[in-house]
Amino acid sequence: MGGQDPRVVDGQMTSDLLRMVESTSLDGETISNRTRQIHANVLSGSKYIRAANFTKIHPGDLAFLFAEYDGRFFAGQVREALGATPLYFRLSKRMTSSGGKTACFTDRSTGRRWYEISASTTMLFGCFTGEDHRPIVASGMTCRDRLDALQRVMEHEIVHLIEMLLWGKSSCSHPRFHSITQRFFGHTENRHSLITPKEKALVKFGIRPGVKVRFQFEGAEYTGVVNRVNKRATVLVEDRKGRRYSDGKTYAKFYVPVQMLEAVE
Ligand SMILES: [Zn+2]
Repeated sequence: MGGQDPRVVDGQMTSDLLRMVESTSLDGETISNRTRQIHANVLSGSKYIRAANFTKIHPGDLAFLFAEYDGRFFAGQVREALGATPLYFRLSKRMTSSGGKTACFTDRSTGRRWYEISASTTMLFGCFTGEDHRPIVASGMTCRDRLDALQRVMEHEIVHLIEMLLWGKSSCSHPRFHSITQRFFGHTENRHSLITPKEKALVKFGIRPGVKVRFQFEGAEYTGVVNRVNKRATVLVEDRKGRRYSDGKTYAKFYVPVQMLEAVE
């Protein structure tokens, strides 16, 4: 840090947050009353989230959700601790393995700092489709609907933000994180257990790396091998004009939606 020091004020604010984070332990009923209230408030207050299994969402909904959690669980101390530091909210289609992310950015030339909480629409809209092959569990808790899952994401991310504000860094694999999410939200796990596109591809279509597949493209049929699976599968098809790979053969690369692939023996 350094320079002229507005963090003197932050120091007071963060110590209030610190005391609260270290000393609070909520019982299960308090937690479920508060989270149910938040669920109801989002449904009645949002212009986009019109149903528990909503099909539209706006970054403003994340801001609203954050304010609800900060107000009801942390007495507004997270916002206080942020002070003048901006906190932005973002929806991402590209995050395909976790439901949310919290990051701190610093502009190297100006020293300006800001935080960003993002949620993955790919993950959220991929769950509660009516075709889930298993219950959706997030942070060790079974989620009733898509909004409930989004709340688990915000609970997880707000603790990342709190750790960053209080200790400068955060890790959800460490005991301190686990302790905070357990005492405030009753989380028993800190893994992200929404259904990923990768899991869905495997369970529904049998598509995973190494599998031989067939697909149609511009009227022709191709046969290749799945190299990796994300939102789409990367399929390598032997091609004399393609790029050379470590097995010595040359391949052309295709990105194909998994539902368009047919596994072949
Ligand atoms: Zn995490």
